[in-house]
Amino acid sequence: MSNESYSCHCGQVIKKQKNVSKHFSSKKHMNYEQKENFYVSPTMAKQIAQEWTPLFEAYMESAIRNQKQHRDIGKVLAYIAEEWVAKNLMERTGRPIKNVYGESYDGITNDDYKPVRHQVKFRQSTWHLETTRRNSVKNKDRSATGHVAYASNEFDALAIFIPGPAFSLTSSKLRVIPSSVLIDKDKPMQMMTSAEKLKKEYDCDKKTEQVIQMIYRES
Ligand SMILES: [Zn+2]
Repeated sequence: MSNESYSCHCGQVIKKQKNVSKHFSSKKHMNYEQKENFYVSPTMAKQIAQEWTPLFEAYMESAIRNQKQHRDIGKVLAYIAEEWVAKNLMERTGRPIKNVYGESYDGITNDDYKPVRHQVKFRQSTWHLETTRRNSVKNKDRSATGHVAYASNEFDALAIFIPGPAFSLTSSKLRVIPSSVLIDKDKPMQMMTSAEKLKKEYDCDKKTEQVIQMIYRES
């Protein structure tokens, strides 16, 4: 720990490191945190993200090398991969795309053309396709195999992020499947809970490029 003073995002400067945790439980800081419509400035967000970065790096280095952590890495990187997918799709389509949260899709085009919504799945091997939402009354009827299927209108494109060897980002792959081919033929209101059958056709660079250009064309 350094001896530099800590300038808290609440505005208080704490001169000694040992007083930082005491400050977090102080009235001034607590009032700040509990403010309604709590606003996080870009500077504050950057500062906090930087606090976590070296810890994240340490976790990643360990997890990449330890087989037992490989299942968990996917859960951690799933959110981060969404950033990569949106960027990749933007570069390839020339359309602005924003990530969204709390919707049935992860990102959507952000221009005046027909909107395209994409759902990202981080997949190391099988292309299974169930939602991570818990079984609720609303989802009750969608469950066929114990998995919760997506409703057929929840997104327009499935973007499958496949990390490279040892979770390499440089050699990772993106595969895109239009939602129209994911619809469950027996239950047209929902999507299939697995896209494994589509691998043969869609796990291919040329096909991916065709699908992206078809789905994202400005019409
Ligand atoms: Zn504070």
